[in-house]
Amino acid sequence: MSELMIYVNGEYVPKSQATTSIYDHGFLYGDGVFEGIRAYNGRVFKLAEHIDRLYDSARAIALNIPMSKEEMEEAILETLRKNNLKDAYIRPIVSRGIGDLGLDPRKCPNPNIFIITQPWDAMYGDLYETGLTAITVGIRRNAPDALSPNIKSLNYLNNILAKIEANEKGGDEAIFLDSRGFISEGSGDNIFCIKNGRILTPPTINNLKGITRAVAIEILEKLGYDVLEKDIGLFDLYTADEIFVTGTAAEAAPIVKIDGRIIGNGKVGPITKQVADTFAEFTRSNGTEI
Ligand code: PMP
Repeated sequence: MSELMIYVNGEYVPKSQATTSIYDHGFLYGDGVFEGIRAYNGRVFKLAEHIDRLYDSARAIALNIPMSKEEMEEAILETLRKNNLKDAYIRPIVSRGIGDLGLDPRKCPNPNIFIITQPWDAMYGDLYETGLTAITVGIRRNAPDALSPNIKSLNYLNNILAKIEANEKGGDEAIFLDSRGFISEGSGDNIFCIKNGRILTPPTINNLKGITRAVAIEILEKLGYDVLEKDIGLFDLYTADEIFVTGTAAEAAPIVKIDGRIIGNGKVGPITKQVADTFAEFTRSNGTEI
C-alpha cells in the first residue's frame, strides 16, 4: 500500500515526511487544539459540528486558525480523497507553531495545521458485544476553572494519567470524577447511566461537549426516553441498570462492570443496544459527502 498523505499547511506530504520542529509549542507545551472525526461509507459524520468545536477550542486558547472553516472543510475532504478513504478516522491538528523555549505564544507567529486521515476499525472490538470494564480513577478531571475540559486541546496529559491508572487496575476505560467528586467523563468519551428507564448524563461544564453525546441524546429522545443532564455521583453509577459511553472513536460502548460492581445483569442492556444500533444506522447514512 502506498504511504498515507498528510495535509501540512496547505500541502499534501507522505506520512514519513509530515513533521514539525521540536520548537513547535504543540510539542513543547501541548499548546494547540485538535479534533477526532470519522467518515463512514464515503460521508464525514457531523463534519460542521467538529469544525465548529475545533474553532471554538482555538478561540478559547486565543489561537487564530489561519484559514476559514470552509477551507478547513475542503482540506479535510481533499485529504480523504487523496488517500482514497471512504471509512476513516480524521485528525485535524492546529498547533501554536514554532517559537522559542519561552511560553509566550507571541513568539509563535504561524500556527501549524496538519490533517491526518487513516483507516480505523471499531475501537473496542468484541467488547461491544460483551461490554467494557471501567474503573473510576483517583486523578480528577481538569477543573473547569483551571483548564476547561470543553477545550479539546493538545494537552491530554490529564486523560493519559487516567488511562495509565485504568491500565494498572485492569479497566478498559477510565472514568473521571471532577474536583467535587461528581462523575465527569471517560478518558476519551462521555458517560450515560440508566436507572428505571430514566437516562442521566452530567452537564457539560466538567467534560467535553461530545458530538456523539449530543447525537445519543437526540436518538434517546426520539426513542421516547427522558434524558436528564444532572450531576451524577458514584452511587448512581454503582446502582445503574445500564451504563454506556459515547465518542467518535468509541461510538456507543456498553460498560458492564465498574470498580468491581456488576452493572445490571452484567450484559449489554436493552436501551444501550438500541442506542448503539440506531447510532450505527445513523452514522452510516448521514454526513458530508467526500
Ligand atoms: N471526552 C473526551 C475527553 C474526548 O476525548 C472525547 C473524544 N473526542 C469525547 C469526550 C467524546 O467526544 P465526541 O463524541 O465529540 O468524539
